[in-house]
Amino acid sequence: MTERTIERRRKAAPHADQAPMLVAEPPSKKPATRKKSAPTAPVKPFEKKVIALVYDFDGTLSPKPMQEYTFLPKIGEDPKAFWAESNKIAKEQGADGLITYMHLMYKKAKAKGVRIDREDLVALGRDVELFPGVESWFDEIAEYVRIAAETHGITLRHYLVSSGLTEIIEGTSIYPRFHNVFASEYWFDAYDLPYPKRVITDTGKTQYLFRINKGVENLGDSINDHMPETVRPIPFSNMIYFGDGETDVPSMAVMRKNGGYAVAVHGPGKQRQKCVDLFKAGRCDFFAQADYRRGSDLFRRTCLLLDRILADIRVREEMWRLEKAAAKA
Ligand SMILES: [Mg+2]
Repeated sequence: MTERTIERRRKAAPHADQAPMLVAEPPSKKPATRKKSAPTAPVKPFEKKVIALVYDFDGTLSPKPMQEYTFLPKIGEDPKAFWAESNKIAKEQGADGLITYMHLMYKKAKAKGVRIDREDLVALGRDVELFPGVESWFDEIAEYVRIAAETHGITLRHYLVSSGLTEIIEGTSIYPRFHNVFASEYWFDAYDLPYPKRVITDTGKTQYLFRINKGVENLGDSINDHMPETVRPIPFSNMIYFGDGETDVPSMAVMRKNGGYAVAVHGPGKQRQKCVDLFKAGRCDFFAQADYRRGSDLFRRTCLLLDRILADIRVREEMWRLEKAAAKA
């Protein structure tokens, strides 16, 4: 489906994605961040029936930083040594850690005489490993919501907010599952070396939570204009954020402070402790091993949160009906 087709459809039926019953939006092949959609029109309380599941990528959907599967092996770099060098430079120079690594990767590739274009990065995305069950998760969760929501007209969306690279994510099998992907990105052919075009830091991630909340997903539109809570299309209470650690603390804090939910995930073994710490510090509602298969703790706990969100939506809609009736009386 071309971008133009999607645009035309959206114009013809602006609320088509809020039609009764199901739920998960169909996978699309387009680069999600290039969407030129206008800001979503303000919605009435009873129309707030979009549920957004928002994911971090590295360590949350995939066991290791995505560069370790792809870019670094291609240029013959040992991941541990690379990150140590990158962090050392950033510290010495007082530079942003993400900009430093994005620059260093290409500097090293150039030194080795390896050219990696946008298409190469996308192709490398196919080698990124995903946690068990991630590929089936989207259908399984959609099925759960479809049954739990009954005929209640709920739309389920998945978003990715990652400090990793858009190009690599585009190459993964799950890319079409996301309504939108917000990730760091390169500007190719801008200069001698590809230049960071967009860098999403830990705290910068929170901006994208507000973009989802306010329906201002086009990056060309300012997120800072005031929008009263009552007209924001996806309330935080309809959102769950999935992250894996320290770098997700600002996002988890924003979610929970605004009435949303946060789930921390961990790899097998010792990695559990960081989630225990997050839980004890009140950063997340639940934590679980990053096993996305149906019936896992993560699946079950996510469904519990979805039950609560669905009940909340029903309560709000009933209140809205009552208010309308009361106004006439
Ligand atoms: Mg992470």
